[in-house]
Amino acid sequence: MFLCDGSYIWRKNVFGICPQTYSLRGLRLFLTASKNVVFLHDFFIQKIMKNTIIILPLLLSLVACGQNRSISDLYETDSFTTKSGKTLKIHALIHSSIRIEFDGKEIEIDPVHKLGDFTIDFAAFPKADYIFVTHEHFDHLDSIAIQALSQKTTQLVTNRRSADQLGYGTVMANGDRLVLNDWLTVEAVPAYNTTAGHLQFHPKGRDNGFILTIDGLRIYIAGDTEDIPEMADIKDIDVAFLPCNQPYTMTVEQLVRAAKIIRPKVLFPYHYNKTKVSVIPELLKEAGIDVRIRHYE
Ligand SMILES: [Zn+2]
Repeated sequence: MFLCDGSYIWRKNVFGICPQTYSLRGLRLFLTASKNVVFLHDFFIQKIMKNTIIILPLLLSLVACGQNRSISDLYETDSFTTKSGKTLKIHALIHSSIRIEFDGKEIEIDPVHKLGDFTIDFAAFPKADYIFVTHEHFDHLDSIAIQALSQKTTQLVTNRRSADQLGYGTVMANGDRLVLNDWLTVEAVPAYNTTAGHLQFHPKGRDNGFILTIDGLRIYIAGDTEDIPEMADIKDIDVAFLPCNQPYTMTVEQLVRAAKIIRPKVLFPYHYNKTKVSVIPELLKEAGIDVRIRHYE
């Protein structure tokens, strides 16, 4: 058995020598010039196969990991523990779109598949058990996203005007309370503008905020609102979502005021576009509210 290396020096008994003694040029010459080619070639194939057998499961698991990452790990996620000790995950999608995962159930709030350059492929998401839509504006109500997330058993809960636009949906008005399941209750609460000149955006009584109680964990999703007096009645909130953009919802100062009234344990400013929300954690530090800034632009 011989091998020709790049300097044309013949060496013998390759199998006893480490593979790094081969030069590429020598190997090419050898592969084309000798009857022993097949034998040596097989030797390399065997080595490659052997390595592949070792590496393949690793590669497959990496690919599988990559596939699993596609949805749940694409967005920032916060985990909470519910009353019975189960994990509830909140995935920050965009603007007012929130995904909640709890005990194998999927809840979507105001799912919107396209905002500016940002798109979300809801067809790749798990189908929703419940979809909540606060009101009919384009950055909250999106029939394409709803369709992509829906299956036969999906229940859509919304305000009157959204249900009229979609042609279906369970309608809730401000003050309504609905027990949807033994682990899920929803309350519809007021969401409206109070600043002169802004009242037309969200007139009182038309739109909803929602309080979801999921296995004891109370989540307040304010919808498009300013800091309204009714917020004083919103109690025992674990997680709150408060909007922060002008002229449609609150200023930073209004949001801070609202947060001090509601006093949630954790607060996500959301629906904030280009508002500088990075100052909010410091402003609510003394109030003991854990403010978390996520990608809800
Ligand atoms: Zn709106």
